[in-house]
Amino acid sequence: MTWNISNSGIREDQLLNLESLFALGNGYLGVRGNFEEGYPEGMNSIRGTYLNAFHDRTDIPYGEKLFAFPDTQQKLVNVIDAQSIRIYFGTEEEMFRFDQGKIRSYERNFRMDRGYSERIIHWESPSGQEIKLHFRRIVSFEYRELFAIDIRIESVNFTGPVKIVSTVNGDVSNYTNPNDPRVGAGHAKRLSVAACGYQDDYAYAMDETQASGLQVACVTAHRYEQERASEMQVLASETETVSSYTFAIKESESVSFAKWNVYTDTLRHQDRLIDRGVALQEELAGVSFEDLLAKQKQYLDEFWKTADIVIENDAALQEGIRFNLYQLLQSAGRDEFSNISAKGLSGEGYEGHYFWDTEIYMFPVFLMTKPEIARQLLLYRYSKLDQARARAREMGHKKGALYPWRTISGTECSSFFPSGTAQYHISADIAYSYIQYYIAEQDNSFLLEYGAEVLFETARLWMEIGHEYQGKFHIDEVTGPDEYTCMVNNNYYTNAMAKHNLKWAAKSFDILREYDDQGFKALCERLQATAEEAQAWRKAADAMYLPYDEELGINPQDDTFLRKAVWDFANTPEEHYPLLLHYHPLTLYRYQVCKQADTVLAHFLLEDEQDSDTIVRSYDYYEKITTHDSSLSSCIFSIMASKIGYHAKAYDYFIETARLDLDNTHGNTKDGLHLANMGGTWMAIVYGFAGMRLKESGLSFAPSIPDAWDKYAFRVRYRGRLIEVRIGKERVQLELLEGGELSLKLYGAETTLQLSQPVERAIAQ
Ligand code: BGC
Repeated sequence: MTWNISNSGIREDQLLNLESLFALGNGYLGVRGNFEEGYPEGMNSIRGTYLNAFHDRTDIPYGEKLFAFPDTQQKLVNVIDAQSIRIYFGTEEEMFRFDQGKIRSYERNFRMDRGYSERIIHWESPSGQEIKLHFRRIVSFEYRELFAIDIRIESVNFTGPVKIVSTVNGDVSNYTNPNDPRVGAGHAKRLSVAACGYQDDYAYAMDETQASGLQVACVTAHRYEQERASEMQVLASETETVSSYTFAIKESESVSFAKWNVYTDTLRHQDRLIDRGVALQEELAGVSFEDLLAKQKQYLDEFWKTADIVIENDAALQEGIRFNLYQLLQSAGRDEFSNISAKGLSGEGYEGHYFWDTEIYMFPVFLMTKPEIARQLLLYRYSKLDQARARAREMGHKKGALYPWRTISGTECSSFFPSGTAQYHISADIAYSYIQYYIAEQDNSFLLEYGAEVLFETARLWMEIGHEYQGKFHIDEVTGPDEYTCMVNNNYYTNAMAKHNLKWAAKSFDILREYDDQGFKALCERLQATAEEAQAWRKAADAMYLPYDEELGINPQDDTFLRKAVWDFANTPEEHYPLLLHYHPLTLYRYQVCKQADTVLAHFLLEDEQDSDTIVRSYDYYEKITTHDSSLSSCIFSIMASKIGYHAKAYDYFIETARLDLDNTHGNTKDGLHLANMGGTWMAIVYGFAGMRLKESGLSFAPSIPDAWDKYAFRVRYRGRLIEVRIGKERVQLELLEGGELSLKLYGAETTLQLSQPVERAIAQ
């Protein structure tokens, strides 16, 4: 049961959320869980198909545009709709639709172990004809361009013609909501149809964007038993192909029909998109739907072998955890053009942009379970380095690289700089992910080829923006992760992360000199990096100012944070949350109120910067003033509550993350899933309950177990090993499943793992 998200009724108020929850994807292509037959007039649906990174460029309208505000932004575009299939029964042509006739039974499943979704419906038409329908959908992990729908229609008491009408529609728009800053406000229609028709037996549509000059094509094959089709008709308008097939069917008989859609785009397939689509279809000709299912299962068996987290006695949570991991897998870009957007490929919220969410919340999951995807995510950022350099120049920095706060193709897309561009920490976050990768994989050649360049250029940014004052290195006028406190001096998080960035830039200098002197010299020459510069990075890191308040014994979020009045939480009505939808930003900035973990997050990522008492006091302080209006917050509080020993709290925060979308607790799942939070679920278990840390000194665990659980287990990859961690009420076991002997720390004690020789310890209280 916990491998399956199921749903057994059609409720109008849930439809939009279910479209997001039942979205299928493979990192390249994503399709929302819309109904093939469509919806009754007036019913709201966000019908969506997306190709990761396939975007248009739109103007950013400003009332007052100042220097270096971006002129344009990118927007993920809803592409050609190939989901539609209408089915008509009898000579009266009664169309299958859920709002007419009677639904006698209905079951919808999202199979996370098998990689498909299905709807099983027993429908009675208004005139009493009973039919059973079985829809299955796959977005293939094996064949990245493919989205296939398979339908089986079975007659219960009906004899007569069944007409199946399948469309490929290039006339599509994006969804907008002008009242919600988290959803696109305008620019709904970004694609125009460039071609539409039939080639050989394939239906196709090709669209192009208005401004970015990209094209997308969908080439569709219809599969059915040709000898059973009594009639076939194909029609193409300027924007849509309409293919109809009629079958004669008798009581208790069935007929099958499949629609295989192949999507190509100019980012990945360059040109001649329709020909390429046709060629891909031809390659697929010998592959059956059952073959697709088998390949999908094989791919997922491999994924779950490492990524699954098993909780023994809580089915709802187990389901939530698996769902979140599965969605991460569906959303992660696998090429240099794409990354993981804040909503994955499940919706249009945040316009399909990539944020720091990737590096801080999602990258760790891949790093420890599927490192090849982690590497790919790093390569995406590497490929955008030149644009980050250009942005730094535009922002007045002579050297270095400033990564955009939100982007698809690499340029800054944020029009509201106080909680956009001012979040300079994204550059340190990206550096942090390169450092984590290095620590986990010890891949010197990757460091030489890609990592060092990113570390050097981001370090240079801090040298540009920071300055020495009274012997300390200060960073002014930035925004930390907490978007309710903007434009501050010495944000603790930013300073601590910049320090780490600078330290590792200098350190990689030494590592690489040692590893490959020639290669290193060439790199230095190319980047004009010198030993003196590395020394300056080290010096700045050592001198980094990290605010500390003697009286409270905590790290203030920034220089002025603690001076501000505390937000009046007692008199803030429940319905005013999230505050960002009810108060002007300036109102929020004037108070001590946090949207999300900020200093507390720094204490997780860089816990050795402070002693544990400071960390505990800071946690207690910030917890009282944090609203968790961002879904990026609860998981961090859960991890830190675990660290501190606040076990009940750790569990409560964890619960917030695990089923956030399944239970729509943030109320906006319809716009797409909260991918960072999904990574946060994994982190709250692995870093939180199991106390895992990945540091220069190696891997360590300090497990605890929530009272509500009897046992949980998970696996991680680390330096070519596969390690299983099993945690029970009394004991913890670590077992090396693959790879050579490994030393790690368990509750601080050096522990050696050898293949298939589990090490067992009592759970520390
Ligand atoms: C959060 C940001 C996050 C963005 C996208 C905002 O609500 O405050 O930290 O990057 O959502 O998920």
